Amino acid sequence: MSTIAPFSTWPIQTETLRPLYAALAEGRVPHAVLLAGSSEDTAELAAFITRLLLCTAPGAPCGRCWACLQGDRHPDAIRAVPDEHGVVKTAAIEQVQQRLSRTSHTGGRLVYTIPGVDLLNAVAANRLLKTLEEPNPSVVALLTATQPQNVLPTILSRCFIYSVQPRGTHAVWDDLLPEIPAKEETLSAEESFAAASKAVVQWAQTLLQGREGPVLLADSLLEAAAEMGVDVFLRLLAMYLRDVAHVQAGDREHVAVSDWQADLTRHARTVPMDRLYRAIPIVLEARVRLRSHVAPALNLERMCIRLREVLHGV
Ligand SMILES: [Zn+2]
Repeated sequence: MSTIAPFSTWPIQTETLRPLYAALAEGRVPHAVLLAGSSEDTAELAAFITRLLLCTAPGAPCGRCWACLQGDRHPDAIRAVPDEHGVVKTAAIEQVQQRLSRTSHTGGRLVYTIPGVDLLNAVAANRLLKTLEEPNPSVVALLTATQPQNVLPTILSRCFIYSVQPRGTHAVWDDLLPEIPAKEETLSAEESFAAASKAVVQWAQTLLQGREGPVLLADSLLEAAAEMGVDVFLRLLAMYLRDVAHVQAGDREHVAVSDWQADLTRHARTVPMDRLYRAIPIVLEARVRLRSHVAPALNLERMCIRLREVLHGV
């Protein structure tokens, strides 16, 4: 893929999509993207991004090359077909997987779309997870969800999530990074974010070292999260663990926060990748439980017990 068309040509141009545009413009194509928003908006955007990724001319999607002229009929654009209730069934996911097991018609990418991953039943979601767990550099997954909080956490942890709604509408992951408002007038929003992310990285270090017990870990988390709130803390923690796993896999391009680089390098040596990937959903699940008003201290203690089990086998 050469250059891509300007952001102003995108069918939807919320600020939350700008990081996705920037990544694609720099040639950093995520292997899995989750678009959160109404089914109409996410379908339109997924079709547009598919054309962009398959276009072979400058200014993608150029609208003129052979790939662009194929539109939805492009043989390397694969879409799971939902049933009459709008739900993608296991059989439809299997059909996509069969197609992915064959090579692309054009020698380029394969781009597949699974609409409504928040509606998948457990069997279908786990089938999809299998494919996401074995990323192929020439395959791109475009997933969509109206209610991202209902998506299986293990699927969420493998995706870059972009909201198609304007800022202000609420979703569990409305965009890549949480906005952390400045608490005091003396601190800018950037300084508040830097302080929050430093607190998360420090806590993650204690966790990854594995010497602290769950009760003390939970206590220190509550203390470290006092300013930003536990919800933001857990969201940053899940992102940090995902970035440690990215660095371990040799993928520095998809690291979410560049300030983390030095810490990521150190922490990437501490715990095997498969253990990190098992830890991320535990953090996301604790975050969901927190929203249903489970007592925070108990909830966090339970999370720390499970994190220690998967990370250190204790
Ligand atoms: Zn084109």
